[in-house]
Amino acid sequence: MILNIKRTDYCGELSTNDIGREVSVVGWVSKRRNLGSLLFVDLRDSSGIIQIIIKTDEIEVPDIRNEYILNVTGKINKKDVPNPNLKTGEIEIDANEVILVNTAKQPPFIIADKTDALEDIRLKYRYLDLRRPALLNNFKMRAKIVKICHEYLDAHRFIEVETPYLAPSTPEGARDYLVPSRLHKGSFYALPQSPQLYKQMLMVAGFERYYQIARCFRDEDLRADRQPDFTQVDIETSFLTQDQFLTLMEGLIQKIFKETINYDVKLPLRRMKYDEAVNVYGSDKPDTRFDLKLVDIKSIFSNSTFETFASAKYIKAIKVENFAKDCSRKKQDSYNLLAKKFKLNSYMIVKFEGGALTGGIIKHFSEEEQKQLISTMDLHENDIIFIAHSNILRNVNFGLGALRSEIAEELSLIKPHTYDLLWVVDFPLFEKSEETGEITPCHHPFTRPVDEDLDKLESEPYNVYSYTYDIIMNGYEAGGGGLRIYDQETQDRIFKILGFSEENIQKKFGWFVESLKYGTPPHGGMAFGLERLTMVLCETNNIRDVIAFPKNLSGVCPVTNAPVEVDEEQLKELGIKIDK
Ligand code: ASP
Repeated sequence: MILNIKRTDYCGELSTNDIGREVSVVGWVSKRRNLGSLLFVDLRDSSGIIQIIIKTDEIEVPDIRNEYILNVTGKINKKDVPNPNLKTGEIEIDANEVILVNTAKQPPFIIADKTDALEDIRLKYRYLDLRRPALLNNFKMRAKIVKICHEYLDAHRFIEVETPYLAPSTPEGARDYLVPSRLHKGSFYALPQSPQLYKQMLMVAGFERYYQIARCFRDEDLRADRQPDFTQVDIETSFLTQDQFLTLMEGLIQKIFKETINYDVKLPLRRMKYDEAVNVYGSDKPDTRFDLKLVDIKSIFSNSTFETFASAKYIKAIKVENFAKDCSRKKQDSYNLLAKKFKLNSYMIVKFEGGALTGGIIKHFSEEEQKQLISTMDLHENDIIFIAHSNILRNVNFGLGALRSEIAEELSLIKPHTYDLLWVVDFPLFEKSEETGEITPCHHPFTRPVDEDLDKLESEPYNVYSYTYDIIMNGYEAGGGGLRIYDQETQDRIFKILGFSEENIQKKFGWFVESLKYGTPPHGGMAFGLERLTMVLCETNNIRDVIAFPKNLSGVCPVTNAPVEVDEEQLKELGIKIDK
């Protein structure tokens, strides 16, 4: 074994320009084939893979197995038969020296981009999983995005500032991770759900433009696009209107897409009102790469004799072209499971076959209603429509929106390598909490209501809109933010509407409210979800593909097993007793 590594080049960077050169490379054995007196090795380093040819009766060859580390010196030759699967597939290194740098235990799965190893086992041996070039490439992408953010924001007068991780709880709406204090037993820090209040205080401080690549912590149920600790590109500015701010952010997005995947984002991005997104696409993060729009058909049935429709306040439908024959009973049953999630009984189905409407509910429709349905939905042979009805508009909209996405996926309605970027703007300021039924902020309690709605705050709170925006990329919420309240009076009114008592405000964020009294500039900002941005650019729908050491779906780190129990002694120091 040796310590002095000889390296003139990186494996993946060699090309036909290097033919004839003597080079030294070092890397891991990704594959080996033994053809008697010839041994072929694919050697992998952080840049890629190159084939090495070793003439075993001409040079001394150590024992070589998968994942051993070799330091190889040799001449670059042109290959007789190129390998189209490798970037370096036109050349190979004819080895004249092969030194074993280290051996390796046999890995529990074969390390290659295409793998059928289960995710559980890959996550447990994440350091081996990360050797797969496709995964490494995701992290190169992630790092590049961060670098572009630094460049762009630096060029636009932003100052990078770190804010504490040991912080008080902030009102982003999720559960906090708490950290017990040893010095103040019974008191806890909260890991920040975002740097929200700190960045607003930096605006009070007069920094004017702040950013941070900030880790955030939220104790929520995990999903394919959600992790308990994640990273935001967090931004705040002073003295800009919403339009000026969005334009500044669009410049950043354009630069990221250009410099990572060489894609030209056309500016300005489309701005869609929240109401349109929800009413037409059934989602506050609409993917507009496919149609399947929601159509309001209530008016067709305003005099219906069909009790179900007559009594439903809202009836809407989506049409899927040419899908009537293929939409089997089994598929319908699986869609109806989805319907239940939105408190809908089912999606009622009507097909257009043999020039007429078919389906169990047709008998309840008058001839005129049928005619109107055909023309409103613009039905043609083999089309199918899915109808949702309810007295709660939200359930109809979001229920059809979810179906819309599922069918688009199933029928591959989305062209690969296409990008759909837009802003959703004008969110309502408040919503009714699904769990408690109480009024809660749609974003957070420091979001500024639009000026025109200020006089409706108390009388019609649910009809008040706010200066808020989300950036949507391919149906993902890749970021969001808003303008903030900067006057004490509005802030107090909002707190009152939310039912925060004076005592509670003082206890929770009195220090923040106090800061707003010292000449707060009009300000606003947003945060991009770095992982979601990376997912879109890497074309993966699994957030774990862009986090080096992610948690599994039960919130456990499979490599380290965190969270783990701690020593009795540590607990005692913190004054904590565990109640199992
Ligand atoms: N702090 C907000 C969030 O994490 C983003 C913002 O409003 O800037 O969603």
